[in-house]
Amino acid sequence: MGYALQKILLIEDDPKDALLFSSLLGIDEPKNKYFVTHVSSAEKAIEKDIEKEYDVVFLDMNLPGVSGFDAIEKIQSRTANIPIVVLTGNNDEAFATSAIKKGCQDYLVKGCNDGDTIRRSIRYAIDRKDFENKIIDLARYDTLTNVVKRDVIYDRMEKAISLSKRNGIKLAVFFLDLDNFKHINDTYGHLAGDFILKEIASRLKICVRSHDTIARFGGDEFVILLEGLKSEIDDCNIIAERIIKSINKPIRYEGTVISISGSLGISIYPECADNCSDLVMNADAALQFAKQEGKNTYHFYTESLNQKIVRSNNLEITLRKAIENAEIQPHYHPIMDVKRNRIEGVEALARWNCKKFGIISPVEFIPLAEKTGLINELGELILRQVCRDYHQMKTLVKQPFKISVNISAKQFEKKDFASKFINILMENNISPKNIAFEITESLFMDNSEKITSALKTFKEAGISLHLDDFGTGYSSLSYLSRLPVDTLKIDKSFVSDINKNTNSQVISKAIMGIANSLNLAVISEGVENKKQLEYLKDIGCSKIQGYYFAKPMALDHFKEWIMAG
Ligand code: C2E
Ligand code: CA
Ligand code: CA
Repeated sequence: MGYALQKILLIEDDPKDALLFSSLLGIDEPKNKYFVTHVSSAEKAIEKDIEKEYDVVFLDMNLPGVSGFDAIEKIQSRTANIPIVVLTGNNDEAFATSAIKKGCQDYLVKGCNDGDTIRRSIRYAIDRKDFENKIIDLARYDTLTNVVKRDVIYDRMEKAISLSKRNGIKLAVFFLDLDNFKHINDTYGHLAGDFILKEIASRLKICVRSHDTIARFGGDEFVILLEGLKSEIDDCNIIAERIIKSINKPIRYEGTVISISGSLGISIYPECADNCSDLVMNADAALQFAKQEGKNTYHFYTESLNQKIVRSNNLEITLRKAIENAEIQPHYHPIMDVKRNRIEGVEALARWNCKKFGIISPVEFIPLAEKTGLINELGELILRQVCRDYHQMKTLVKQPFKISVNISAKQFEKKDFASKFINILMENNISPKNIAFEITESLFMDNSEKITSALKTFKEAGISLHLDDFGTGYSSLSYLSRLPVDTLKIDKSFVSDINKNTNSQVISKAIMGIANSLNLAVISEGVENKKQLEYLKDIGCSKIQGYYFAKPMALDHFKEWIMAG
């Protein structure tokens, strides 16, 4: 192996020894490959940028006024990557060995060397340091993506925080998670997944500045440390947008084009936390928020976000207990048949009167139940209570009527979901004819066999299927003719401004048209006044639900309402 000009820093107090060293190396010879800089003390050495200017350091262990070990430490504090060879006196082998243990690469006994020994020592020290660095890199770098690992970024973050404490310049932590990466792995295989991770890592490198740090936290998670921010919010916005955009660029893998997106959470020092682990944790919390907001976006951490998270964590524990203790009850919201002027059915809406947090809206606890999987137990609880209540309502309502029960898409993921729900009806002696399940369009995003077969099972058993919030979802109409839905519910967002907004008018008329041509019934929800009711009647919708008739009521209240006629 040949080396270019080797630059040596020699730390030696005796000028004669220094001269000897240089001449042994042959620096005056025509083919000289060495350049020696001589300084007389460790203090003078560390004034230099050793890391940048030298390939190897030779350090005399007998400098005046400083112990050999202190001298080594001094040099090491300024350079982690340059090999050190110590020069010891005669009969000092033991000392030399401890120097190696302290991280020096080699030692030479002074006065016993010729040029070859010194040259060999230089080569050996450089090679050994190289090897040591490679081993360290293995521990520091993620082998797949070639970005650093968790420990390294924490280390840098700690340094950046202490620097920021002195100079007041802020830093930011980005927590990135690829959206639906598991799906990509499942669809295209793990090799494709690995390829994408590598590609994303190299795109990230382009998005940030050279002094920023990117780390892989395992799986499809990356953490990025941005240092030296000028205007933290603006800088973060720009970089976050750049990252999201760059992830969005399709990736070619073996002839397939794969599209992917990512979500980012951002926390800033010192506003969001005062230490590394909290900065990362809060960036992660902001990331979860970005995911909830529909992914492919970013979110800054805020104190109020923290309150939300604390509340949601507490709520989760409380929710689990509330389900166990059946503290969540269905209320009933009448669905009116305005043509026949009578009640058509009721919709069961979950109500949680929590001892600790007061009345909690389903808008808050249903998503939480979905996220935690508690929706399965909750759905079962509601259905059992509905069955029990139905027998009481039946004695008061003269004509046949149905109870509608809301079902989350999540519940369909559970094996045996359909047969379990049908069994609950049987056990409670409820005819499926008297039950409707309300599902949303989100269910059809996933065109899985599981969902289609569950819907068929329900349909064949005689249960009606209502498509809730119709028009707000992704509204691909093709599924309507394929799937056994029998009623569309016009979402209350269209009804609320139906007398003013021509878009809402066009949409509700279109829904009536689709329903007629596919032979589906329509229910309008959220009707609050007579004007809205009249408009809906005019366009042919006769099944109406809304505060205009009644608010959702507890069973006893509902019974009174019926009896009052
Ligand atoms: P949804 O199924 O669309 O239910 C209609 C929501 O609109 C109900 O809110 C109802 O109280 C409200 N509403 C009805 N008429 C009017 C009106 O005239 N004006 C106004 N402003 N609002 C009206 P709620 O009870 O807060 O339920 C919210 C959502 O929570 C429901 O939306 C449903 O998606 C979900 N949910 C409720 N109970 C359950 C349940 O047992 N299981 C599942 N999976 N989801 C449920
Ligand atoms: Ca509903
Ligand atoms: Ca609805």
